[in-house]
Amino acid sequence: MSTFLSKLARFRQKYGDYRCLICSKRVAREPALCSGCQSILPWLDSSVCLICGAFSPCGCTARSVSEDPFQSRLAVFDYAFPVDALLKRFKYQEKRAIGRNLGLLLGQIALHNGLAQGIDILLPVPLAWRRRRHRGFNQASDIAEACSEVIAVPCSKSILRRRSDTPRLAGLSPAERRFAVLGAFAATDEVIGQRVVLIDDVMTSGATCLELNRELRDRGAASVSVWTIARAIDATSPSLTDH
Ligand SMILES: [Zn+2]
Ligand SMILES: [Zn+2]
Repeated sequence: MSTFLSKLARFRQKYGDYRCLICSKRVAREPALCSGCQSILPWLDSSVCLICGAFSPCGCTARSVSEDPFQSRLAVFDYAFPVDALLKRFKYQEKRAIGRNLGLLLGQIALHNGLAQGIDILLPVPLAWRRRRHRGFNQASDIAEACSEVIAVPCSKSILRRRSDTPRLAGLSPAERRFAVLGAFAATDEVIGQRVVLIDDVMTSGATCLELNRELRDRGAASVSVWTIARAIDATSPSLTDH
């Protein structure tokens, strides 16, 4: 079996045997996205403010930027077609290769932007226990593990946990979301003095990450960053599946 696997690995190295996540065309390497699909993806650029999720000029002032609690924010895509469909396939049809590939991409972009320097640990946003049991895996952990591989920063799945099952945040106003997640997370003392990065699939209003930031700072984390695969441009859209 191991001979077979090493032969397969050599074959892949030589010819490339990955399939594009979107069109299934053969590609040479991971992250498996062919050049044609890459050109149609909704990449986020500087025209979108990662603090409020609106196109700039947005309502954020110099003050709100300087008071942003996160050390760095990174989001690869707008949460729009086909990225939304891809993330749904990953989560609900358990296509784990999608999460791995998107995590590799997130790591590459973090490296490219110099964000991976001065980071101690990656922490996937924990999933509600009931939802995790139902789904069988936490999508944020799959993304974080692949990202960790690329940037060579460890990833921990045990530092953060959810104290309670929070209600679904979709459809709630930003203020209601903040209230719904209040006190929902617990972090261990392992974060003392650590520069941590929260990893998730989608950021919508940011309520979940702001609450995690509060808990991590309370526990003594030196800094908190947030990196996600996608950012919802319209933070109030009820169709989004924030958690
Ligand atoms: Zn393709
Ligand atoms: Zn803004």
